[in-house]
Amino acid sequence: MNIKLIHSKVNAVLKAASPITLPVDIESIAKKRGLDVLPYELGPDVSGLLAIKDGKGTIGYNSTETRVRRRFTIAHELGHYELHKEKSDLFVDKQFIYRSQNSPITVDHQIMEHEANYFASCILMPTDQVRKELEKMDIDLVSEEGIKHLAKVFEVSTTAMSLRIDKLGFF
Ligand SMILES: [Zn+2]
Repeated sequence: MNIKLIHSKVNAVLKAASPITLPVDIESIAKKRGLDVLPYELGPDVSGLLAIKDGKGTIGYNSTETRVRRRFTIAHELGHYELHKEKSDLFVDKQFIYRSQNSPITVDHQIMEHEANYFASCILMPTDQVRKELEKMDIDLVSEEGIKHLAKVFEVSTTAMSLRIDKLGFF
């Protein structure tokens, strides 16, 4: 999928949810898109799923995971809904899926996972808001402290924050 198409989907979702306050309220955004968002007992190796039935989507997230992880999962499943709902009606996201020997995944599947991850990071860390927060900061961004501060503001992992900043090319 063309990256411009992902950006336009992200922008449409953000626009419909504006004004955006931080941290991005991903659960209410998903609900505004018509999805149900529910905690599930998914077992230790599954982070979340998206099930679509009769056009109605339900996101289930693993209620035992950390809040930051759950937020990313909901954003990732929303990504599958916005980008891939014509391709399948069930997406199950296991942790460490790339490492698992028992469940080899196809290239198509891998691409969809990358796209959903990218969608999630764009939704949770919108370009405009990242830029504004960077401008507000006194501390050096190229420090652990800077990334930790931003990760807290956006309520994402420091890894996700650091990747997003890299991708946006603000360094
Ligand atoms: Zn996925």
